[in-house]
Amino acid sequence: MALKITDDCVACGVCMPECPVNAISEGDIYVIDAKTCVECKGYHGSPKCAEVCPVDACQPA
Ligand code: SF4
Ligand code: SF4
Repeated sequence: MALKITDDCVACGVCMPECPVNAISEGDIYVIDAKTCVECKGYHGSPKCAEVCPVDACQPA
């Protein structure tokens, strides 16, 4: 399972350094590598990217 970043992303970059497994890459909108994302299991109680995103663009895939 993984999260995905929706078109609502405004490319602020806040999520990328928060990801414990470096699953997020930058672009016109940011992208989560579904093979790498572990939904923060073992690192945080809930997906950190979703927690920090100001526009709620990190959603369950
Ligand atoms: S849910 Fe966690 S592991 Fe997955 S992309 Fe977001 S911060 Fe990274
Ligand atoms: S925190 Fe949200 S708006 Fe900012 S780059 Fe990540 S997904 Fe996009």
